This record gives sequence, structure tokens and C-alpha cells, in this order.
Amino acid sequence: MSQVSEPDDVAEPVTEKVSDQPEKAEARQIELPHSSSVRQLADLLQISAIELIKQLMRQGIMANINQAIDYETAATAAAAYDYEAHPQPRTVRRPTSASEMRKHRQLQGEETSNLQLRPPVVTVMGHVNHGKTRLLDAIRQTNVMATEAGGITQHIGAYQTTVNGQKITFLDTPGHEAFTAMRAHGAQITDITILVVAADDGIMPQTTEAIDHARAAGVPIVVAINKIDKPDANPERVKQQLADAGLLIEEWGGDTICVPISAKEKIGITELLENLLVVAEVEELKANPSGPATGVVIEAEMDRSRGPLATVLINNGTLKLGDTVVVGTTWGRVRAMFNDLSKQVKKAGPAMPVELLGLSSVPQAGEILTAVSNEHQAQALIENYKAERKEKALPKAVSLNNLYDQITTGQVKGLNVILKTDVQGSIEPIRSSLEHLGTDKVQVRIIHTGTGNVSESDVMLATASKGLVIGFGVNIEEGARRLANTEGIDIRQYSIIYNLIDDVDKALKGLLEPEYVEVLEGRAEVRAVFPAPKGVQVAGVYVTEGRISRNASVRVRRGEEMVHESTVSSLKRFKDDAREVTTGYECGIGIKDFSKFQVGDTLESFRIEKAT
Ligand code: GDP
Repeated sequence: MSQVSEPDDVAEPVTEKVSDQPEKAEARQIELPHSSSVRQLADLLQISAIELIKQLMRQGIMANINQAIDYETAATAAAAYDYEAHPQPRTVRRPTSASEMRKHRQLQGEETSNLQLRPPVVTVMGHVNHGKTRLLDAIRQTNVMATEAGGITQHIGAYQTTVNGQKITFLDTPGHEAFTAMRAHGAQITDITILVVAADDGIMPQTTEAIDHARAAGVPIVVAINKIDKPDANPERVKQQLADAGLLIEEWGGDTICVPISAKEKIGITELLENLLVVAEVEELKANPSGPATGVVIEAEMDRSRGPLATVLINNGTLKLGDTVVVGTTWGRVRAMFNDLSKQVKKAGPAMPVELLGLSSVPQAGEILTAVSNEHQAQALIENYKAERKEKALPKAVSLNNLYDQITTGQVKGLNVILKTDVQGSIEPIRSSLEHLGTDKVQVRIIHTGTGNVSESDVMLATASKGLVIGFGVNIEEGARRLANTEGIDIRQYSIIYNLIDDVDKALKGLLEPEYVEVLEGRAEVRAVFPAPKGVQVAGVYVTEGRISRNASVRVRRGEEMVHESTVSSLKRFKDDAREVTTGYECGIGIKDFSKFQVGDTLESFRIEKAT
């Protein structure tokens, strides 16, 4: 029987060849991310995206080029191209320089062989009412339930919880203001921040602010989408908003960890904690548990019966009962220590918060604790510290006036700007113009933008990040102005974009005309008015503040009204001429070209100085 050949038009069942590789090729090894877009996966597999989309269709998945696909799907697709897939270890995005800085800091002066992993220190941030406090409570309760049924944690500013046998330390004051205030005092203790976003409300102004504050500090962010129990919760919308804010979550091919939770119903809390451990592992947070302790004061107060109480977070080493410690300019011997469950403890190692008794006075939050060998060493350290503080005045804050000097002396490598505008539409044009002004030597970095008046939080961020604040078409809140004065922060206000850009440009090139500011020297109150020869008057005054000097510039105020401005023409104590009269003394004052004093007027004397 002759074999009947198949007719031409009856096609053989086609086994679609999906690659140019020989069919029996050895499987190649490939690491694939937890989640990736079709485009990214195609690049990894070195095939076209169209090819990959077809393959995914064969797997029953209709995907477009930007769609995120999970590891299992990607591994199956990879197998069709003779790859053997393995999951990629998770990575956490953070500015490299900040990461390196942190590692450098933690390793400074320590033998690498002495370093051991320590618990991460975590802060919670987010918009008001999004559930920060409730989340901290939920985590604390989990801890209490796990340790001793019905126990009550005491509020000591921080607490520890345990998950899968590993500890995590939480700072108990939520919000980016507290976080940045600590940084402004020179104490960066947070390793990871949880950004709480309510699923029914989405990203709000303080959420964006918190993101910028965490970024400015180089601290990795883990997102907790909270309130998923609510009927109007919309986590997908939050994910989109996060992507718009530059936080692309893992599920969508990014590397921001995002956990849906309900602080109220205690859903997702353990998963959130486990994810913090994942980040901690990547960060390789280490300390040397042996050796003398160093730590940071988180809060402190005077307890009426027990004396000064300070909650300290240990950075390095182990603090023991009886240790002699120096904290800023105070010192003492550790008389007792309590943990967050009010239990007495004998020692505290890295990342452990303890309340300690025994200091001679109340220290300030943000001050550094150092354990020393004896009282003599403690006194020497305090003297050193005081002398140093006197000698080197704190490094000057950066301002447009001193920017060029700071660049040329190498004190500043980049200009950090906090930009506040009246409307959203002004932000982008100003941002891009400013960023373009950067040179090889100094870059302009816009670390935070927002609409509305300049707030205390803006000034705090400028202090912590050694930057300045630029306001465009906005005012300065009173608290912000006060804080800026104390911290020496430059706040510039503009209403014309050209002037703003021009000033920064000139400042970068050292061409900015010096600015002059008024410095108040003293205040006095008019208590009597006397006639003097030639129809002039002399005021009998009492100096209430500072000093009044002869020939000083002076202003007469009557309530809110400014009545006259000129200079002091005569200054007498009793009958004698005086060079200056200080607070608490009376004197007679004549003012050039002025003879209309009234009892109750205020005199303000001031000098004009070049702004620094
Ligand atoms: P904070 O200002 O961010 O500290 O917010 P709070 O923790 O004080 O929470 C604000 C409000 O939201 C309170 O009434 C909480 O009870 C409520 N809340 C917090 N978390 C949840 C949650 O997961 N689900 C629901 N339904 N309400 C929550």
C-alpha cells in the first residue's frame, strides 16, 4: 500500500516556535523582580514587547505594554524562552549618597567585626486623621498582648514590638514635624518611615509634605494604606496618587512597599511589620552592642517625686545600671531604668528605648548621651563641650547673601530650597528655572514645594536640611518668622518670577548686592516730658529692653503708629551725659527734630547691618 500523502492544504498542527533558540537549549538562569511591567520583562528576556504580549496571550493573559505582571506569570513566560527564573532579592530605593552617609555614620570608629544587626527605628507620618495614632496603638497592643495579657504600656516616647522573633522600635510621636525637629537638632534616629494614607481620603497636603521630609532625610518609605475597612475605601486610587507623587509601588513594577491595612480592625498589621523587617534587612542596620553606650534623648521632664527623667534611645553599646553618663551639659549616674512596659531593666542595648533616672538636671530632646568611666571624665567632657560650643559658633545657616562664600569655602555643595507658592501653577516654572541655574560646583535642589504661607514646618525642614525658604506670592506665618529668626533661616519673598530667579542666579555667582537689615538695640518707655531750652523737649524714659546709645537711630511709636524717626541728640543720666543706658535704668533723651513726646510713647533704638 502506497502511503497516502497528506494533502497540502491540511496543515500540520503548528507548534508555535517562540524563540530562535534551539528547542533543547539548556535553561539559562535569570533573576526576575517581584513585579515588573511587560516592557521591563521583555528587556530582561531580550525579546520584543510584542513577542512577550503574544506569549502572555498563550498563557491566557491579555496584557498591555505597561501592565504589571507578577513573578509567577513572568517565570512561566521566561520558561517559554528557555530561562530558569529565580526571584530577585528585594531592593529599596533611596538616594545612594544618603545611604552611604548613614552606613558611614553607623560604622564610624567601630571595628566591622564588632557590629551586629540591630532593630530598625521606625517613625509614622501622614496627613492628620489618616490613622497614625491608631496604628501606633494597634501595634503597641499587639505587643502587649504578646508579652503579658492586660499589661499597659507606659508612654515613654518610644516602644518596641516583636515580630517573627525580631524587634522593631517605634517612635511614639507621629508626624513629620517631630521627625524633622529631631533632625534640625542634629539627631537623625529614624531608619524607616511608615507613610499612612487613608484609603477613603487619598494623598493630602501633609502626605506630600511627609514624603518630601522623608526624602530630604534619605529615609526609606513604606506605605500603609489605612482604613480599608471603610465602605468608601479606594486603595487603587491611592496607588495611582502614590505613583504620581513618585512612589511606584511593587505591584506596579516599582520598588515602594505598600501594605493595605486597617488600624481599627487590626487587618494587615503583621504584614506591615514583616515588611519593615524586609527593609531593615536590606538596610543592614548595625551597631556594636558591647562597649560604652551612646544614645539620643527623645523626651525629658522633671518628675516631682523622682527628679529628672529622660527617655533615651540607645544608638550604640549597652547602657547599664550604675553607669556614669553625660547628656549635653548635664551628667549623672544611672540609678534606675524602665522599659516601655514600665519594667525595671538592668541594661539597654542598641535601638532600645529606656526611661532613665539619675541625671542631675533635665536634658533637652535631641541631646546626645555618652557613657563615661567616672565623674572626673564626665566633668572634663562637659567642660570640653561647653568650650567647643563657645569657640565654634554653630555653622551659619545658608542664605542668598552668604551662599557664594559658603560655596567657595566648600561649606556648601548644593543649595536646598523649600518653595512655597500661592498657586500650584507657579511651582513647575519656578522649579525648572531654579534647577537649571545649578553649576558643576553647586546644584539647586528643590526639596519641598507646596502652596500656602511659609509655615514652621517649612522652616524646620530648612534647618534640618541646611537650606533656605523661598515664598512666591505668599506670606510668612508668625511662628515661622520667629523660628527663622532663632535658627537664622533665610526666607525670601517674591512676587515677580524674574526677580526670584535673578536673585538666586546672582547669589550663585557671588554677584548679589548685599542686603541691609535692621537690628533692634533697645526699647524705652516715655514716663515724663520736660521742656528744654530753644523750644525742644526732653523725654524722661525707662529702658525696658536692651540699651539706648548716644547717636543711635531711634523711632518714636505711639501705640501701633510710628510718629517720628531720626537719631538720639542727647542722652543724660541725672545731669551727666551718658554714652549708653541699659535695661532697668532711667534717663533723659532728646531726639533730633522732635518735640512732641507724650507719656506712654515707646522709643525703639536700632542699627542697620549688612545681612549675613
Ligand atoms: P492621626 O491624626 O493620623 O493620628 O489619626 P488618628 O489615629 O487619630 O485617627 C483619626 C480617626 O480615624 C479616628 O477617629 C480613628 O478612630 C479613625 N481611624 C483610624 N484608623 C482607622 C481604620 O483603620 N478604620 C477606620 N474605620 N477608622 C480609622
